[in-house]
Amino acid sequence: MLNIRYHMSDKHDGLRTGEDPTKAILSESGLNSKHLCDYVVNVATGCRHGCKFCYVPSTPNIRTRPDMLEEEVDVENGQKEWGSYVLYRDGLGERLDTHLDRKRTWRETRRGQGVVGVSFSTDCYMDGRAGAITRNVVEALTSHEKYTRVLTRNPILALQDLDVFQEGGKYVTIGSSIPCLDADQVGAIESSAPAPELRLRGLQEFNDHGIQTFVSMSPTYPTQDKADLRAQMEEIAVCDPAVIFHEPINPRGGNFEMTVQAARDAGEDELAASLDALRDREQWIEYATNHLQWMQELGRELELPVHLWPDKQLIKYVTEEEAAWLQSWRDRQSPEEFAEREVPSGTPPSIPLRP
Ligand code: SF4
Repeated sequence: MLNIRYHMSDKHDGLRTGEDPTKAILSESGLNSKHLCDYVVNVATGCRHGCKFCYVPSTPNIRTRPDMLEEEVDVENGQKEWGSYVLYRDGLGERLDTHLDRKRTWRETRRGQGVVGVSFSTDCYMDGRAGAITRNVVEALTSHEKYTRVLTRNPILALQDLDVFQEGGKYVTIGSSIPCLDADQVGAIESSAPAPELRLRGLQEFNDHGIQTFVSMSPTYPTQDKADLRAQMEEIAVCDPAVIFHEPINPRGGNFEMTVQAARDAGEDELAASLDALRDREQWIEYATNHLQWMQELGRELELPVHLWPDKQLIKYVTEEEAAWLQSWRDRQSPEEFAEREVPSGTPPSIPLRP
């Protein structure tokens, strides 16, 4: 076993913490469109990693609760101050256990397969307090035989709950976002999250102990060429993931300017310039389409289970043939054998050549 007991300190300069007064336990989710889950459980509001490109602060969970954020943790602007506040949902696992005892219906869409995502609006192992909540949440879900997809940038910390994952057996999978292997570039826009190498090592350890893993290469950076993506996939293969999800970065979000500025501030000038260039629609289409094509090709060449997440907006801007190719990915099931999915036997469509 990896000889690391990795305990991220609960201290963080300027981090404001409190207890989340929300009564939310288990929420239906639209992430079935990405073949991830039908439900989500979030262990906190806010996330100490504060990734600059994060979409969460623009969601209703943050946008519609300004009074609560101000009252509980003195936050004036939930988006601008993202990464500096966390409201934990202490005791959530116990409440979820009771909720599941009473719940009589369960949503199972074709794409979501009734899976529960833990947790997609914050990192469920961002620190010890979140990890303690997550442990009880995973126990509650798997003991009720609910398929559970845990996503964290800190799988090393999650290793302290290896026993719970092992007891969860076929009902649990753990994955991590590994957008790029260049620690300096990743650190520029995900400054508080563990380095990519640590994420890989954590997943490898889970895999070595028989826990199914998955990886999300999301979002890959415009500084990466096909050789970089190949090298990254070869490293990821060591974790034997059941699927490698992939999506390019989306430059339309309200926080994209903050992402570019963070790269500049960190001295990552090439990353900043190449991100900035994506504001030009043609350049974004070229980068996004190239990355999606390369990932499909590399998946075949390296015999790795790739699943692409093409952006709806991108599909509107490309040729008819490319649009059909990208849409076919949106319609495909993830190749994971998780939640007793019926995996389609057809091969992915061929890639149309760009003019
Ligand atoms: S770890 Fe996830 S939820 Fe947290 S800031 Fe980063 S992208 Fe957002």
